[in-house]
Amino acid sequence: MSFRTSVKNLINGALFLILILASGSCASFIARNIHWDGADSPVVRILLLTTNSSFTVSSNRVIRISGDGSVTEKMSAVFLPEEIRTTIRVEPNGKPLMLNGIPYRGYFEIVPAQNAMHIINIVRVDEYLSSVVPCEIPSGWEPDALKAQAVAARTYTYYHIIHNRKRGSLYDLDATVNSQVYRGINDERPSTTEAVMDTRGEILLYDGMPILSYFHSTCGGKTSDDAQVWKNNQLPYLNSVKCGYCGESTKYSWETVLSIDEIARHVSVQNPGMGPIRTVTFRRKNDRVTDVSIKHTRGTITISGNNFRLMFPPEKILSLYFTSKKSGSSLVLYGHGWGHGVGLCQWGARGMARSGFNYREILNHYYTQVKIKHTRSGYLASKINASYTVQ
Ligand SMILES: [Zn+2]
Repeated sequence: MSFRTSVKNLINGALFLILILASGSCASFIARNIHWDGADSPVVRILLLTTNSSFTVSSNRVIRISGDGSVTEKMSAVFLPEEIRTTIRVEPNGKPLMLNGIPYRGYFEIVPAQNAMHIINIVRVDEYLSSVVPCEIPSGWEPDALKAQAVAARTYTYYHIIHNRKRGSLYDLDATVNSQVYRGINDERPSTTEAVMDTRGEILLYDGMPILSYFHSTCGGKTSDDAQVWKNNQLPYLNSVKCGYCGESTKYSWETVLSIDEIARHVSVQNPGMGPIRTVTFRRKNDRVTDVSIKHTRGTITISGNNFRLMFPPEKILSLYFTSKKSGSSLVLYGHGWGHGVGLCQWGARGMARSGFNYREILNHYYTQVKIKHTRSGYLASKINASYTVQ
């Protein structure tokens, strides 16, 4: 499995759950007016949408549309895929741009793709994070838990900016559970914006580079080595550590029943030649399932624990930290935690903050051997030889 696939699987498996966790706190909200000095925050390119249907960009003031050899100004514009032949830039004029009625900071680029269009939001990292953090963690949590999340999310963003620009990618991150959830201005909250601003420029470094700062909802008692989840990964800062602070999570312990029929139904999607199942064996390391061996009438299928988990709906197998017991034609799983268990445990961060630890202590607990560094303007450019400017 490629590294990128591993990353996508991770996010699919974990951030989706986090999205659900946080979605209740992301209702309508009127953002306070944020005054960014801007100079210290680089910009990030977020894929908001890829569509083959029309969409509307509007604002409360005229918007400026350029890129196809002409410049037009109007209050709103409808874009059709067959009309986009070159990259179009859409810029605001003092009021946010809205994509299909949802307001975003920064500006948009509309890029033609095969029979479709990419809508990319070019926005300062800290403005982006002001929406990401409350979408990934409840905004009512302790300030140091929010700050820990802000630094983790900023580091994750920097990591992907560097890697994707070096690769020549069209954008740095998308706006979904595949990257970090981002829904624009409507989701911003004062407490999380404050956490972003209070930690401005701060990122986690290992060996002088931003780390791949995974996070998850609840580890269930101890976090996981990344190699236990994604076999090709072995990052020196993603090691299993004792948590002991996430006991208040409702997902600290869980139980689920998997019938053999259900296992056959989900596993056979990617293994269509599979016969009726005879046995299911879980192999573990450090109490987490690393491999699943399914003996069936025509042979044996061995799947990584992570891939097995992702074959089921996200709410079915909440983590790989479980034991199992046979019960008739079913397996009962007794588990701990929610998500992949790698890196920062969000509920643990909250527990540590409640116990008096500050965000730096929290981050140094979950990411081993890392340094927290305050970066300044130009830091990313120096790493990637690429620059984007927000006007
Ligand atoms: Zn934990």
